[in-house]
Amino acid sequence: MSATVIRGSEIAQTIRAEIAEEVKKLQQEQQITPGLVTILVGEDPASQSYVAAKNKTAGQLGIHSKQLTLPAETSEADLLEIVARYNQDETIHGILVQLPLPRHIDEGKVLFAIDPAKDVDGFHPVNVGKMVLGEQCFLPCTPHGILELLSRSGVETSGAEVVIIGRSNIVGKPVANLMLQKRDSGNATVTLCHTRTRDLQFHTRRADILIVAAGVAQMIGAEDVKEGVVVIDVGVNRVGETASGKAKLVGDVDFEAVAAKAAAITPVPGGVGPMTITMLMKNTLQAARQAGELQTS
Ligand code: NAD
Repeated sequence: MSATVIRGSEIAQTIRAEIAEEVKKLQQEQQITPGLVTILVGEDPASQSYVAAKNKTAGQLGIHSKQLTLPAETSEADLLEIVARYNQDETIHGILVQLPLPRHIDEGKVLFAIDPAKDVDGFHPVNVGKMVLGEQCFLPCTPHGILELLSRSGVETSGAEVVIIGRSNIVGKPVANLMLQKRDSGNATVTLCHTRTRDLQFHTRRADILIVAAGVAQMIGAEDVKEGVVVIDVGVNRVGETASGKAKLVGDVDFEAVAAKAAAITPVPGGVGPMTITMLMKNTLQAARQAGELQTS
């Protein structure tokens, strides 16, 4: 294997230490403790573990966190009321509603109800709009984490051919947008591929940086990339799940095969995942800071 492994878990640790320092400073200088509420509706096991990990990390960094678990049959109106309550709560700076929500709840309506100043997931249309315009806002956590991974690994994006697979609102579209912005970790030439892309391999084989967020286990093999590519594997797929045994987590990229050709590659697990949670903490800190600035202005 020739590739440098971009270890998100280690980069995330470094950033978390920086955040913990900043949290301490904010408490000492302004007596503000950043507060995050996570709202989970239902009992989806994957969502439960994501929410638990977010609250645990918040605690480790000195961020006050509150975990609200609601029954799957919670009505949309009740959820909207809860969000409205946290919009008014001065001890809470970030509100995270774990997706997906049960089918009877309109996700868009709930995300829209969150105060944009507390939208630490960066999903509110106000923040999405600001991101597209290149204005200061809460960046969505996974795309932001990918940018940090690239810049802290010394990967030059300016002028690079960046090919992204996946056009979801939480990964593909925002990461494409951020990479084409005139900013650090941007200035790339971006191609966004999806299920209707005619010749996927034509695009992936000319990528300098390939970002895969399709949710298809090991869909990218050595034959799909060029020598020296940098690969960011966002996919998280559980394979080999049995009633008794634990599933194995794999990405959208065949790690061993692609690593033999790549200059750098992220593993799954331990790549993008830890960065997503870290960026959520960074956004919560930013939200608390901004609330403090409003108080003093
Ligand atoms: P999604 O299902 O909303 O979107 C997947 C996208 O991939 C779609 O736009 C689809 O057009 C495209 N796609 C699917 N199969 C394809 C194919 N064969 N060829 C070309 N395009 C294809 O998924 P998502 O929410 O963006 O997540 C994608 C993956 O990333 C999932 O595995 C998810 O678990 C993972 N994820 C990881 C993190 C993390 O922090 N590590 C965060 C978010 C998502």
